[in-house]
Amino acid sequence: MVITCIVKGCDNKQKVYSTVMFHRIPTHHKRRKVWLAVLNMDPTTPVQMLKNWHVCSEHFTQQDYTSTGLCLKDTTTPTIFKSPTEQSGSSPDAVSKRLY
Ligand SMILES: [Zn+2]
Repeated sequence: MVITCIVKGCDNKQKVYSTVMFHRIPTHHKRRKVWLAVLNMDPTTPVQMLKNWHVCSEHFTQQDYTSTGLCLKDTTTPTIFKSPTEQSGSSPDAVSKRLY
């Protein structure tokens, strides 16, 4: 199965010669909720489905990674979205503050 990025407006796929990494939705329920809110996804999505979902590295900043540059920090949520339509209302920051 080809791994694809679930972020709306992003069509990255896993390729052999690519530096793009793919990250799974966190398994911790609180963090999962924050990610799904940020990604504008249904928070009641079954965990079984989430296991197949990935977010590519283009939605994270360098600061989101641990010193190895391969793993995301525990507190990280995707922050970079190249959405053509500006989302009004809650920024990712506001979402994570509300849910924590
Ligand atoms: Zn992506």
